[in-house]
Amino acid sequence: MENENLLAIANEFGSPIYVYDSSKIISQYDRLSDAFKKVKRLKLNYAVKALSNIAVLKLMNSLGAGLDTVSVQEVELGLKAGVKPSNIVFTPNGVSLEEIEEVSALGVQINIDNLSILEQFGTKHPNVPVCIRMNPHVMAGGNSKISVGHIDSKFGISIHQIPHILRIVENTGMRINGIHMHTGSDILDIEVFLRACEILFETAMNFKNLDFIDFGSGFKVPYKLGDIETNIEEFGSKMTKRFNSFCKEYGKELTLGFEPGKFLVSEAGYFLAKVNVIKQTTSTVFAGIDSGFNHFIRPMFYNSHHEIINISNPKGKERFYSVVGYICETDTFATNRRISEINEGDTIAFKNTGAYCFSMSSNYNSRYRPAEVLWHEGKAHLIRKRETFEDLTKNQVDIDVFSKVVETT
Ligand SMILES: *Cc1c(COP(=O)(O)O)cnc(C)c1O
Repeated sequence: MENENLLAIANEFGSPIYVYDSSKIISQYDRLSDAFKKVKRLKLNYAVKALSNIAVLKLMNSLGAGLDTVSVQEVELGLKAGVKPSNIVFTPNGVSLEEIEEVSALGVQINIDNLSILEQFGTKHPNVPVCIRMNPHVMAGGNSKISVGHIDSKFGISIHQIPHILRIVENTGMRINGIHMHTGSDILDIEVFLRACEILFETAMNFKNLDFIDFGSGFKVPYKLGDIETNIEEFGSKMTKRFNSFCKEYGKELTLGFEPGKFLVSEAGYFLAKVNVIKQTTSTVFAGIDSGFNHFIRPMFYNSHHEIINISNPKGKERFYSVVGYICETDTFATNRRISEINEGDTIAFKNTGAYCFSMSSNYNSRYRPAEVLWHEGKAHLIRKRETFEDLTKNQVDIDVFSKVVETT
């Protein structure tokens, strides 16, 4: 997308606003598929929690992707988008047996990540095939907030508990049709990931009726110049070779599954905000925008770096700014960042904001959540309206019990 396209969208639909470029989502999907084109049965399930707008789910469905979901509500969004239940996997953590049963009754593949629920579900529904989420005890990335396959993680069933899994399977007569792992959102080292895959292959040999092995996700995208990016092509070629030889060992052609979120949508996203005020202090120049961590929390929550461009003045002389929000908390998007000269009223764009940005937004400070636009084949489509005051109040119950108003002077 060009700066002019973004600027036109901000002018037409207002700010702050999220914009997603469908062609980037499509090219990322194709890139991942291509890297694994020598696998006979490949299934890419898009992780809905990264960006859950129904238009995006429809786009994924049109590409042939399935969905990876973590709540019954995400499943319902997928069904509303027209995705077949058989194309949806439910991979929750810490949800109730009732919610798992509700999703299973819809015909969605269940993935269970603890022994207690596995035993209860298997006892009640021995005929429903179930996938098991394993914890391979591997630290795939360096950031403990997004690395979830290590020993202290709450996710998955430990590989050291396989004997207990097997006992439950035998006692209940349930069928395990898939094995799963997800090591986190930050694969830095392909070799470490491949080691975790070996652990999963070893685990898989314990189960005779598998249809698929799901290796989760964690493909990294570059956030700034010089950032490490998972080399998908190299990874694909190494993993394909190993997976195909494993299928021979196993004696059956299994489906290889991944559940990318960030990889598919992150780079497609732009977050546009308007600069309300330029404030010089004794130590820096602040650019204060019409947004905050209520709309875009990744910089504060994960310390993530997002490139910023002044799309109103892209060729201006570069100066240093600290970009902050309008929330009554410290909501710093960037410190001491070189950006082309900003004037009050300019629109700036944060790059790489397709994943875990809108989906983590809130109404803190009683602000409306932003609008969303999908840029598709050269046209801007509004896919979510900006909220209104009605949205803020519609579920509040106005109780009429305070009869007296004390006047103070
Ligand atoms: C969040 C999540 C994903 C997606 O992770 P990304 O880093 O966005 O690719 C995949 N699988 C599971 C189980 C998840 O919880």
